[in-house]
Amino acid sequence: MKLSKDAKSLVKKPLGKVYYRLFIALAFIVAIIVLGSELYLAEPMVAAELQKQKIKNLSSNYYKSSTPPVIISPSAIVATPIEIKKINGTVHLPILLYHKTPANFDFQMKHLVDAGYTPVFMQEVYMILTGKMAGPAKPVAITFDDGFSDQLQATEILKKYNFKSTFYVLIGGELSGWCVGVERNVTTCGDSYLNWAQIKTLQGSGLIEVGSHTVDHLQLASLNEAAQRFQIFESKRILEQNLGVSVLSFCYPYGNFNTITELLAKEAGYNNATTTVGSEYQNPNLLFRLNRIRDTKDLR
Ligand SMILES: [Zn+2]
Repeated sequence: MKLSKDAKSLVKKPLGKVYYRLFIALAFIVAIIVLGSELYLAEPMVAAELQKQKIKNLSSNYYKSSTPPVIISPSAIVATPIEIKKINGTVHLPILLYHKTPANFDFQMKHLVDAGYTPVFMQEVYMILTGKMAGPAKPVAITFDDGFSDQLQATEILKKYNFKSTFYVLIGGELSGWCVGVERNVTTCGDSYLNWAQIKTLQGSGLIEVGSHTVDHLQLASLNEAAQRFQIFESKRILEQNLGVSVLSFCYPYGNFNTITELLAKEAGYNNATTTVGSEYQNPNLLFRLNRIRDTKDLR
């Protein structure tokens, strides 16, 4: 059967409309898919980029300042979980570094009381950071380097507050001119350093942990492996022999160390080591690079 021209146009018209509608609907679906996928991708990309930037900022500042770590938003955590874990794992555990007793030491210790801190030994810092011990709500470690006899003033104040502390003692000798004991016949030292009897008394008080600060207080990174080994191992041996306790905390003289130093300290049997890098935060993955600050005034 043949349709007239009018009839043909009648059939064509609705069919054309159907194609047109189908085309529009299809275009609409395609648009939604494209736009949707872009939005879907855009979100994690922005978060990942932001995250990278934050990590970059953090890692560049981490060993340079006492700036608290950047708080990462939960949406960013989804983007790069491995790197985040490292940042979230950073613990607020200030370690204070002193040499001679500061004039305002009592005031600084009072500030710790007022701010609610509980002083712990370096061995407890190690236990807290490795999850072997829960620790107090706000732990802090107080450390003294070099074994100056002047530090006896600080011990009186520490005793008054019933505060634990860690004293990093060096052995000393003719090579360095530093000395713990007149026992080693270094006459130039006079009584400016703690002697063995005093160290034993401090250690026996129950409020003081003794750590090693090497034999001669040299720049360890400038020494060859054998010389470093002597400084790290021999100081531990002599301290343990004299004190009758395990010495497990180590402190790099001048905060100076290299990868060999770290490996030797681990091999010797220490379980942590402190630097002179100023931050209140500790990375549990870097137990041989613990940071220290020099005053309680910024502690909140
Ligand atoms: Zn020192």
